[in-house]
Amino acid sequence: MNFDALESGTIALLGIPFDDHSSFLKGASKAPARIRAALHSESANLCAENGMDLSASNRWTDLGDLNDLGEMNSTESFLNIEAAIKRIVAEGARPISLGGDHSIAYPIVRGMAETHSNLTILQLDAHPDLYDEFDGNRFSHACPFARIMEERLASRLIQVGIRATNPHQKEQAERFGVEVFTANVWSPTEDLALEGPLYVSIDMDVFDPAFAPGVSHHEPGGLSSRDVLGILQSIDAPVVGADIVELNPDRDPAGITAMLAAKLLKELLALMHDGTDTA
Ligand code: MN
Ligand code: MN
Repeated sequence: MNFDALESGTIALLGIPFDDHSSFLKGASKAPARIRAALHSESANLCAENGMDLSASNRWTDLGDLNDLGEMNSTESFLNIEAAIKRIVAEGARPISLGGDHSIAYPIVRGMAETHSNLTILQLDAHPDLYDEFDGNRFSHACPFARIMEERLASRLIQVGIRATNPHQKEQAERFGVEVFTANVWSPTEDLALEGPLYVSIDMDVFDPAFAPGVSHHEPGGLSSRDVLGILQSIDAPVVGADIVELNPDRDPAGITAMLAAKLLKELLALMHDGTDTA
């Protein structure tokens, strides 16, 4: 992994093939390779919807996968993820991480928070991921935003698309002052009042399973591809980092969900080029 090639403002893709903390099905560790394959597939070009040709830009780079994840050891894995993100941010670069399960958001945000002390996080997800612990695991993919808010790593957490909460997580959301837009009240005209520095965390199960079947937890009643693209395209706050998590290729035989993840990646790249010097 060549961190030395990073420059201030570079957008750095980082694969994090980690699914040790998935509570139901493994498989998300196979996602980074699938997202890259979809991104570079000859079936589509590398242009975002605003017309930006990402193949003509030298402002983004792919660092490859973080392989130094340790052996099923959450402490070591998380420390290595945090260290990689810290290194990227220290160069003035901005990471887009490709998961992996959603547990990685905790070490990622820890790695961001030293430089960005007043992060706003936009979490697009069917699930709040605010459990204090899940099946006895405080680092489960059901818990990262509880850890983030406990450690005050973000000043605001805004969740959109939630439709699988329960009394415990509702209490947690109130305790942490989370701004929750459940799927049944959210509308495309909603003003999320996002301000920078902004971190965007996209769990692929925010989509209705009809749009994104390749996830471990099918939760009907979700957002459409157009809904989420509209949210991303409406962001005018400076985005300092992002992740796309929870794609499970084992449940994505036709590759539809991987293609959607690649589309989100193109839109995130275009969004993060905005307002910076482009090639
Ligand atoms: Mn999640
Ligand atoms: Mn989820």
